[in-house]
Amino acid sequence: MGINHAPDGDGELVVVALGGNTLLGEHGPWTIDEQRAAIEEAARHVVGAIRAGYRVVLTHGNGPQVGNLLLQQENAPDTPQLPLDVLVAETQAQIGYLLQQALDNELATETDFVTVVTQVVVDPSDPAFERPTKPVGPFYTEADARERPFETRRVTSGDRPYRRVVPSPAPTAIVEADEIQRLVDRGDRVVCAGGGGVPVIREGCLRGVEAVVDKDSASRLLAAEIGATSLVILTDVDHAYVNYGEPDERPLREVDPDELRRHLDRGEFGEGSMRPKVEACLRFVEAGGELAAITAPTNLEDGLCGEAGTRVTD
Ligand code: ADP
Ligand code: MG
Repeated sequence: MGINHAPDGDGELVVVALGGNTLLGEHGPWTIDEQRAAIEEAARHVVGAIRAGYRVVLTHGNGPQVGNLLLQQENAPDTPQLPLDVLVAETQAQIGYLLQQALDNELATETDFVTVVTQVVVDPSDPAFERPTKPVGPFYTEADARERPFETRRVTSGDRPYRRVVPSPAPTAIVEADEIQRLVDRGDRVVCAGGGGVPVIREGCLRGVEAVVDKDSASRLLAAEIGATSLVILTDVDHAYVNYGEPDERPLREVDPDELRRHLDRGEFGEGSMRPKVEACLRFVEAGGELAAITAPTNLEDGLCGEAGTRVTD
């Protein structure tokens, strides 16, 4: 209480988005020990960037975590079922807690990390609401799927090919952007916009909706709203590739928006995986951001100031 800690100086402000595997570990079954180990590893790289002078704001995904909560609900039909927006908020706290602890342990200073439960505004007339595309939660048989009180779709083959699908509308504003900005200006270290943020519509008042906002898209919007110079998306590959998975695959290193857009338009990047990352990077740089990078956590620092990863600059 009352400690008036000095801000971290005026280091460059960077939004770093942590992907699923940086939070869970690669293989599963994702016990809490595995999660802690993965998060501690990610924390070491984030702290490396902070020690190098960057002011880091962290965001993160939540796909498997929110999926597990949905599964837990399904298996506990006697308890009240919570809507998806509430579950997203739960995962922000869950993952934020683990990140805060690992980061505070790694960087023992008087400034602790804080997690901000973050709402993200979406447009109720977004066409995504008419066309739910994002699979979430458990897999069902055809008979099970028909009984569910929500929309399901066949998304794979095998015995249980159905999953719940929800809309993935574009984020239009970060509700807590000003508060996050003030924390950052004071020198606080913030984890926010987890799982792409809790999707809300603003019609007079704020109201949560059953949807999932893409975390790369929300991270891009956050970076723009708080005036970050760079956006770094950390995932389980060290680069975005062209001809990905083919014998002649080629990592993209330094790339300008025009070239990257050509690869995007040719369909080089996986829907729902690499494509939203590339789109977020393009949009960030085209709107005046200095650098957007896609790489693995071990390359965070070199992605920012060296030669690692896919680095998009104008
Ligand atoms: P995260 O959970 O970190 O958001 P995703 O699994 O959504 O990560 O996206 C990363 C994955 O994107 C990689 O593991 C890779 O399989 C896939 N991917 C699809 N297209 C490409 C590409 N062109 N270059 C690299 N990775 C790609
Ligand atoms: Mg993933």
